[in-house]
Amino acid sequence: MNFGKKIWLIGNTSEKSKKTMEKLSKILKAEHFLFDDINPDIVISVGGDGTLLRAMHMYEYQLNRVRFLGVHTGHLGFYTDFTDEDLFEVVDALYEENPAKAIHYPLIKVQVNFADGYQIVRHVLNESTIRRASKTMVGDVRISDYLFERFRGDGLSISTPTGSTAYNKSIGGAVVHPRVKAMQVAEIASLNNVVYRTLGSPMIVAEKDIITVCPAPEDDYSLTFDQLTFEYKNIKSIEYSLDGTTISFANCAHTSFWERVSKAFIGEVE
Ligand code: NAD
Repeated sequence: MNFGKKIWLIGNTSEKSKKTMEKLSKILKAEHFLFDDINPDIVISVGGDGTLLRAMHMYEYQLNRVRFLGVHTGHLGFYTDFTDEDLFEVVDALYEENPAKAIHYPLIKVQVNFADGYQIVRHVLNESTIRRASKTMVGDVRISDYLFERFRGDGLSISTPTGSTAYNKSIGGAVVHPRVKAMQVAEIASLNNVVYRTLGSPMIVAEKDIITVCPAPEDDYSLTFDQLTFEYKNIKSIEYSLDGTTISFANCAHTSFWERVSKAFIGEVE
């Protein structure tokens, strides 16, 4: 009995993902799961971490009720628990899945305020970055009410705990356990010399603080929201906060965070 759980599958363009989606759809249909792309209870992403990020952004405005489950078609991902060999285990896990036992990870709310009063609000699962499109970026960084520094460099990355192992790690950020509710600010090639100075190291900012970046006006900036990139002009400020929004993963078989980190980056310890 699957209690009428509504499922939707999202894959990528690889042959392996397409084949796995086909197989999984057949099995789920035979088990009488309902397929619903508008109001699904569980979204299954079939591919890699990028596929899960895409799925999250497709249901960004339904995160309070949708749960996610990741099937990877390559190596172990950070948001994917099952392999394409485990499809019957996926079905068992869906039967056992209990929304009350879902695993929640915090997302960062990114509010872009434009000079004319217009606002854009997005949530990110990994990170949001800001870069100036052409030259060195200059921007004031506030932590809540305190003007912390004037940043000069390529840009800044503000990441979630689960995103700490992604782009953040590549630019020298620390790996943060997802139970730590915090945001991480990491510099992208900051300028540090006798004239300009920034902290020069990543910062872990507490849950209740708001990070505000006020980039020098009248310039073009490139903003990323996970895998999505946009170019904007006339940005007045960007506010990053943990507003309580989370992504929920179906409780089933969720690999422990440190095991995942060790398997992904270190491999077997002899
Ligand atoms: P993608 O889907 O090709 O992913 C790039 C790599 O990042 C993949 O190996 C993926 O498994 C890994 N990844 C994604 N999220 C991760 C996480 N939370 N922890 C550890 N590894 C993770 O790339 P895309 O679709 O362009 O962007 C998606 C994400 O990829 C971005 O949010 C960014 O964090 C990451 N990325 C990293 C770099 C880098 O490290 N230099 C560059 C581009 C993108």
